[in-house]
Parts: sequence; C-alpha cells; structure tokens
Amino acid sequence: MNEEKRRAAILDGARVAEEIKREVARDAARLRETHGYVPCLVAVRVGNDPASAVYVGNKVRTSEALGLRSEHHELPEETTTGELLSEIETLNARNDVDGILVQLPLPRAIDEARVLEAIDPAKDVDGFHPINVGGLTLGRATLAPCTPAGIIELLTREKIALRGRHACIVGRSHIVGRPLAQLLLQHDATVTICHSHTRELPALTRQADLLIAAVGRVGLIRAEHVKPGATVIDVGMNKITDARTARDFFGENAPARIEAIKKRGFTLVGDVHPAEVERVAGHLTPVPGGVGPLTVALLMRNTLNAALRRRGLA
Ligand code: NAP
Repeated sequence: MNEEKRRAAILDGARVAEEIKREVARDAARLRETHGYVPCLVAVRVGNDPASAVYVGNKVRTSEALGLRSEHHELPEETTTGELLSEIETLNARNDVDGILVQLPLPRAIDEARVLEAIDPAKDVDGFHPINVGGLTLGRATLAPCTPAGIIELLTREKIALRGRHACIVGRSHIVGRPLAQLLLQHDATVTICHSHTRELPALTRQADLLIAAVGRVGLIRAEHVKPGATVIDVGMNKITDARTARDFFGENAPARIEAIKKRGFTLVGDVHPAEVERVAGHLTPVPGGVGPLTVALLMRNTLNAALRRRGLA
C-alpha cells in the first residue's frame, strides 16, 4: 500500500460512550425497580469559569438523561476554603448523595488538595482522593479517575491488546497520566511515562505499541513520534483559532474546521497532529469525539457503582 495514502482506523469514543451510558441507564432502572433507589450525583462549582459551567451542565444533563438524580451547587467566586469544606461536610453526611464532584480548577484562593481530601472516599466519583489513588496503586477495585478509566474501556471494548504491549504515556498529571499508568499495569502492559523533562521524546514514543498523549500542547505528537501501526490515544483538548494552523493539521478535513472557526471562533485539536499521525498509526482517537465523551460516561458509571457499593449491592 502507498504509505502516503495509509489511514489509521478511527477509534470512535463517542459510540463507545453511548454504549456505556446505555448500560448505566439499564442498571439504574434495575436498581430503581428492585430497591426503589435512585443514585444521586452532586456537582459543586465555585466561581464563574465559563468552560466549567459547560462541563458541569453537561454532567448534570447526562445524569438526568440516564435516570440518575443530580444537583448542581453553584458557589460564588469569593467562597473560602472553609466554606467549601463545610459544603462538602454537609454532602458527606447526606445519605441520599452517592457521588460528589468538585469541578476543577477552583479559584486560586481555595486550597484544592484540602477540598479533595475532604470528600468521603466512598462518594469520590472523580477518584482523586488519596485513599482511592492509593487503592488504584495497590491494584484494588476502587473509584478510578474517569478519563483514564474511559481510555481503558475504549481499548478493551475495541479489542486492542494490552498484555505484554509497550504503552508510552506522555504526561504525568494526577488526573490522566499517573492513574492511566496504574490501570495499564493492571492490564499487564509495560509502561513508560514521559513528561516535560524527558529527553529524546520521539525515540521513546516510537517504541510504543500504544501511545497516549495527555499534555495540553497543540499537535505535539507528530509522525516521527509514532511507530507504524501503533494505537494512538489523543487526550488533549486545545483550541485553535486560525485557518493556517487548521490547514496544516486537518489536511482534507480542513475546510470544515475553518468553517467552524468562522462560526464559533475556534476548533478543537488534540495533542496529536492528526493529518500526519493518521498516515502512520494503526488506530487513532479523533478530537473531538474520542476521549472526551468517555470521561462523562465513566463519571456516570462511577456514580452508579458508588451507590451500589454504599448500599452493599456491588
Ligand atoms: P497537565 O496537568 O497540565 O499535565 C500535562 C503533562 O504534560 C505534565 O506532566 C507535563 O510535564 C507534560 N508535558 C508538558 N509539556 C511537555 C512536553 N513538551 N513534552 C512532554 N511532556 C510534556 O494536563 P492534564 O490535566 O493531564 O491534561 C492534558 C490535556 O488533556 C489537556 O489538553 C486537557 O485539556 C486534556 N484533558 C482532556 C480530558 C478529556 O476528557 N478529554 C480530560 C482531562 C484532560 P511536567 O509534569 O513535567 O510538567
């Protein structure tokens, strides 16, 4: 086959996310019928960040669409750490609340670590509490962070082999890179984690059968980073606003992206250069429509699982 024409198969995260949400809706209906119980997710948002408002709105709407209860607690920008801690305490004490998520980032004045540690680990549906992080590291069944758990669901449902394969993760955040490394180890992959101090990044990433980019840098991963036939998961969500960059990144899909920039002022691109990498990779997640929808689906799954565990039904 002509190498220039080669195209990676697209891993349709949006489709897999719909499948997971259907399963959650089915299990929630069963819980309602058998125990008369409806799990409840509470999303707490502090301040006026417009992106956070969109994310929380999406999570609340999705919970309701799947037959879960949800509450959206909006607190003003001036909220203190103490006030947020007392809000968390109230939610911890409410027996009808199964999942608590505090939307990040919090305003600078708030002590984020103290807030996340205050959430009851049994209700920590984002999986950020040290008890859950520790459980994950020990390989125990725990509430795992939603983005990495979503990536594992995508890979396993799409039958991408993990056992004995070399996975290279670019990014070591607490939200994505580190927990993903633990989950991949649980699936018997051999894991390399890279970060901003890593030397010779392409030489390392090119060894990987599975390459995951969770960096937050527009199109950092290019053809030279990718082993031919590798599976590439693009976690990044970055905005680009100019037509020239869109033309460079999106190849024959550029016209639609340029149209989106004209209409909305931006289009989304990941940490992977799509036009270059799709010629080398075997499988590739799109942005948008790849990892993003899986994160929300796994939040719903975590909420239902938290409810089942708290009631001794899991
Ligand atoms: P983060 O906390 O900013 O971490 C970024 C990581 O990338 C850090 O470990 C950093 O290294 C590393 N890094 C930065 N520049 C690098 C370079 N040139 N080469 C190699 N490594 C480099 O980011 P995050 O929260 O993990 O998010 C990463 C991206 O994923 C963002 O675009 C975010 O929007 C997106 N995201 C998407 C979803 C979703 O649902 N789709 C969910 C979460 C995040 P150091 O540790 O050395 O600083």
